[in-house]
Amino acid sequence: MLYLDANATEPVRHAAREAALAAMNTLGNPSSTHAAGRAARKLLEEAREAVAQHCHSRPQDVVFTSGATEANALAIHALGVGRPVLTGTTEHDSIRAAAPDAVPVPVLVDGTLDFAALNALLTMHPDALLCLMAANNETGVLHDIAAAGRLCAAHGALLHVDAVQAIGRCNQDWLALGAASFALSGHKFGGVMGAGALVTRKGLEINPLMRGGGQELGRRGGTPPLPAIAALAVVLGEPYEAERIAAYRDAMEAAAIASGAVVMGAGAPRLPNTICLALPGVRADTQLIALDMAGIAVSAGSACSSGKVTSSHVLAAMGQGELAGQAIRVSLPWDVTEGAVERFAAAYATMAKRALRPQAASA
Ligand code: PMP
Repeated sequence: MLYLDANATEPVRHAAREAALAAMNTLGNPSSTHAAGRAARKLLEEAREAVAQHCHSRPQDVVFTSGATEANALAIHALGVGRPVLTGTTEHDSIRAAAPDAVPVPVLVDGTLDFAALNALLTMHPDALLCLMAANNETGVLHDIAAAGRLCAAHGALLHVDAVQAIGRCNQDWLALGAASFALSGHKFGGVMGAGALVTRKGLEINPLMRGGGQELGRRGGTPPLPAIAALAVVLGEPYEAERIAAYRDAMEAAAIASGAVVMGAGAPRLPNTICLALPGVRADTQLIALDMAGIAVSAGSACSSGKVTSSHVLAAMGQGELAGQAIRVSLPWDVTEGAVERFAAAYATMAKRALRPQAASA
C-alpha cells in the first residue's frame, strides 16, 4: 500500500516505538511513591523536560493530554473564560466544537487569514481569545502566526495556536511569536497515538477540564499515557526532510493538474507535504475508492476522523463550496520515497480518465 494520509496520522518512527516499549516495560504509575512509581515519574519528567526544551518553554508549563483535541479544548476552557473567542473559519473541528459560539474570522480565497477582518474584530473585541491553526490539515495552508501574534499583542488579546500539523514539519517558536499557548499531538509527527500537550507561556494558570487525582500539577486529572508521552518527547527533535518531501509533492501536484485537477490553496504558503486536489465533476468518495483499489491511501476533505465523506467546511470558507465534495487530500508521510511520485501520478491519471470519460462522451 502507498500511504499518503500522513495528516491523519504519520507512520510511527523507530525512536518512538523504542521509547514507548521502554516505557511499557517500566513498572509503576508515576503517582506512586514506591521505587517503581518513582521510575515511571522519572520517565514522565524527562519527557516533560525534552518537550519544554524543544518548545522553548519551561517543564512546569507543559501539560500532557490525550492529544490535541483535548489540548485545544483545555486551552479554550482555561483561557476563554470571560473572553469572546475568535476562531478562523478553516479551523479543525476540535476548536469549532470547543467554541461553538466563537466569532468567525474569515479567510481569503487562498485559505490565508483575512487580516483586515481580524483587525476589525480585535478592535471590537480587544480582550478576545483568538484560536488559530498554524497549518491547515486539509489544504496545508499556513497562517501567519507572527502577524497574528503582533496584532493580538497590539490589542491586548490572547492567542492560542493549534500547531498540530506544523510541528515536526515547519517548527517555529510559537511562544516567542506571541502565542499564550499551543497544542500538539504526538501521532501527527511520528509518535504513537494517545498523547499530546498544551504548552503555555510562563506561569499561565490552567483551570482543568478533568480534575480527578490532581495529576499534571492539578491541570489535568488522570493517569498520564506514559508510553505515548515518552514516544512524543523522543520524536520531537527528529529531523524532517522538508525539501525532499516538497519536491515529491510538487511533482505529484503537477501530474494531477495535467490530469484535470485543481489545487486548493495554490499560491498560499503551504506545508511541504500536503496537496488538496479537486477534480471538477467527480465525487471525492469515487476518487478515494478508485485510488484505494489501486493501493493508494488518501482522504476526502475533513473525513479523516469519522470515516464518512462530509463536505469540507474548509473549502466552503475559501469560497470553493461547489468543489468541496470533489476534493481529496494527499499528505505525504515522513518516510515517503521517490517511487511514490510515479505510482501516484499513474493511478491518479487512470482514475481521472475513467471518471471523466462518461461526462466527456455525453458532453
Ligand atoms: N488540530 C488539527 C489541525 C488536526 O489536524 C487534528 C487531527 N486531525 C487535531 C487538531 C486533533 O488531534 P487529535 O485527533 O490527535 O486529538
